[in-house]
Amino acid sequence: MMTGKEYIESLRKLKTVVYLFGERVENFVDHPIIRPSINSVALTYDMAQEPEYRELMTAVSNITGERINRFCHIHQSTDDLVSKIKMQRLLGQKTGSCFQRCVGMDAFNAIYSTTYEIDEKYHTQYHERFRKYMEYVQKNDLTVDGAMTDPKGNRKLSPSEQKDPDLYVHIVEKREDGIIVTGAKAHQTGAVNSHEQLIMPTTAMKEKDKAYAVSFAVPSDAEGVLMIYGRQSCDTRKLEETTMDCGNCMYGGQEALVVFDRVFVPWERVFMCEEYDFSGMLVERFAGYHRQSYGGCKVGVGDVLIGAAATAAEYNGVEGASHIKDKLIEMVHLNETLYCCGIACSAQGRETKAGNYQIDTLLANVCKQNVTRFPYEISRLAEDIAGGLMVTMPSEKDFHSPEIGHICRKYFQGDERVDTMDRMRILRLIENMTLGTAAVGYRTESMHGAGSPQAQRIIIGRQGKIAEKKELAKKLAGINGQSD
Ligand code: SF4
Ligand code: FE
Repeated sequence: MMTGKEYIESLRKLKTVVYLFGERVENFVDHPIIRPSINSVALTYDMAQEPEYRELMTAVSNITGERINRFCHIHQSTDDLVSKIKMQRLLGQKTGSCFQRCVGMDAFNAIYSTTYEIDEKYHTQYHERFRKYMEYVQKNDLTVDGAMTDPKGNRKLSPSEQKDPDLYVHIVEKREDGIIVTGAKAHQTGAVNSHEQLIMPTTAMKEKDKAYAVSFAVPSDAEGVLMIYGRQSCDTRKLEETTMDCGNCMYGGQEALVVFDRVFVPWERVFMCEEYDFSGMLVERFAGYHRQSYGGCKVGVGDVLIGAAATAAEYNGVEGASHIKDKLIEMVHLNETLYCCGIACSAQGRETKAGNYQIDTLLANVCKQNVTRFPYEISRLAEDIAGGLMVTMPSEKDFHSPEIGHICRKYFQGDERVDTMDRMRILRLIENMTLGTAAVGYRTESMHGAGSPQAQRIIIGRQGKIAEKKELAKKLAGINGQSD
């Protein structure tokens, strides 16, 4: 297993093409806007080295028999699924942001089981190929971007009906040695920080869309791949000399548009090629795992936000006020409800035909549906407790100014036992998590990541067993002679 330092050095060896602010970034590893997101991923490597976290952060591979980072693991039991959630909560607590490596883990597990079932029907060799690919990933302890979301163009139209065929990733040529693909994946978490891009289709498909039913892996610096970095609210604060105004200088998340321009993929890295009838299965399984994931990572980040709000209350001198205590209780209640969902859909998981474990789909979708709401309420309560100063306070430079620094310190003093700068620091952290760079991962991603709310409602509608529930009610009501 790599250390965080080795991981960062391994990124330097890649020739990944990255654009930010309209310019090619030659050294993305040391770019001040990108680096915090790399630090978050590096922590997934460092914590796996610590004896204290070994149980949660590592697992024994079913493929190599070796101990590997859990982010590269194919889940072998419901205990593995529960450990995944606990690991994500822990990392959310340590980074206060998105640590990105989960999308790869979720893609591994969804492709592992789906390829097995494609082979069963079509006598293809995708599963064996994928196992070999996983062996490579596990032996090299790679970070992989599990990429699903296409730009989608006109949402009324299916992939093959789009005016521009590239709005969904598709096969443009099939050759003896492999395939050529073109298109793009949008909002790709951790794409720039990944060694590999592992592509999946984005929606269920019909026969006319079969060129879009494609799954494959390419190195991030493969010929024809380019990435455009997504900007985040307040991101240029990271370019300032002072650090306090960032709120969290050390860690962050990252999203990018990943473009494929006639990229060649050898057959040994192709895991679905036109089997359109399995596209829906792969999407539902990946989405299920990622909806489970949010019952871990968002809870960990929520822990930090609750802690920040409680600290802000203390620094303001109001920690004893009953309404503050009650708001903190409400925040904990909401946060732990999300955790309950993450644990429940994991504990109720089941074995797939391929032998790995899949979460309970209905419960994972309920989990994510709650995530589209509760972090907003937790953020609202954090802002309520913090007070308006979190968005009106002067910059760190003002506090350091020889002319006005003493004025800032005097008028922004809270409880006199607390250093004014510490009070400012905690408010900036709350700003970062609710409105700044980390808000991408904690707020808006809670809404749209792993599928927008309506996507979960469709599954909940499909799996909610309303007909069965009607029978229960009718029986008790004595309708249709069903009563005893
Ligand atoms: Fe992992 Fe959460 Fe980031 Fe998704 S949003 S990659 S689950 S930390
Ligand atoms: Fe996500």
